Amino acid sequence: MKSRPDDALNLDSETMEKLRKKGVSRRDFLKFCSAMAASLALPSSFIPQIAEAVANKKPYLVWLEFQDCAGDSEALLRASKPTVGQIVLDILSVEYHETIMAPSGHRAEKSLNDVVKNHKGKYLVVVEGSIPLKDDGIYCCIGGKSALAIAEEVCGNAAATIAVGTCATYGGIPAANPNPTGAVGLKEAVPGATVINLPGCPVNVENLTACIVHYLTFGSLPDTDRLGRPLFAYGKRIHDNCERRAHFDAGQFTQQWGDEGHRQGWCLYEMGCKGPETFHNCPTVKYNEGTSWPVQAGHGCMGCSEPNFWDTMSPFYKRLPNVPGVSVEKTADKVGAALAAVTAAGLVIHGIGRAISPQKNDDE
Ligand code: SF4
Repeated sequence: MKSRPDDALNLDSETMEKLRKKGVSRRDFLKFCSAMAASLALPSSFIPQIAEAVANKKPYLVWLEFQDCAGDSEALLRASKPTVGQIVLDILSVEYHETIMAPSGHRAEKSLNDVVKNHKGKYLVVVEGSIPLKDDGIYCCIGGKSALAIAEEVCGNAAATIAVGTCATYGGIPAANPNPTGAVGLKEAVPGATVINLPGCPVNVENLTACIVHYLTFGSLPDTDRLGRPLFAYGKRIHDNCERRAHFDAGQFTQQWGDEGHRQGWCLYEMGCKGPETFHNCPTVKYNEGTSWPVQAGHGCMGCSEPNFWDTMSPFYKRLPNVPGVSVEKTADKVGAALAAVTAAGLVIHGIGRAISPQKNDDE
């Protein structure tokens, strides 16, 4: 008989007792570990290793917040059933997070300094928000220090840093033209730090959890693309996993908000959807415990997980220029044939990328 993943999950009594005290049942724990293995594209044979790491390791973590809207902290705190967020908070020792920590002022700063001093090279950092470099970084200061000075000290001495949200990864909205504060992402501000990027507005907390679980299990961060994003979460285009893709291929497009096509769930490309240009696992993981994501809710993708999206993806309600397979060919056969030809030539991704340019009016 074929063995099931939970057959291999022999948790010892000490681990079971720890889970019981946290109010986590064996069943929920197994579901969580299975989901993490699936998120990380690992075979189920890794589930016991993940379970062992998650149940028994409790690394120190500090969460830094710079030029941001706190949307990523909100995303973390709103994770609920099946208690992914609770498990993260239970398996981590969160020593510093300005928004949720009890101490304030000097006591809060002491918590941060103690971690850096006493656990050098062993703690994890999550950074939310961009870092201003202009005028010696005076546009974002905490406890008398600039965001840059804090990031250099805290991230520079960490085991690893996870930049969450598009502001922390690429500068985001604070870095949009004309970028008055000289905002940049963490990797640019502190090039010597070990950083992985989880862009998105906000970050998807399940991807954050998976990154932490990967680190706990293997002692390293997941493999990334050239933009520093983990391949398990950013390896595929939104367009390739979108539930409206069949309508795109069939040439069925929403032409106006609320029209018949919109009500029927047709493709949002003509309404400005940036899914053909954006890499993220939104269509498969979704948000709010897998409830929905923008395209499912009827709004096009805004490309928020790509660098400089505020400048390069706007106007948000104007369609992308020159995406192969649409606009010229209007029959389903022609659209499908054109897409197949372009895909076979390996030009879909890179061709679309080149099609994005500041001259956005040539598609009207
Ligand atoms: Fe989905 Fe947007 Fe692609 Fe249409 S253009 S299939 S809505 S990602």
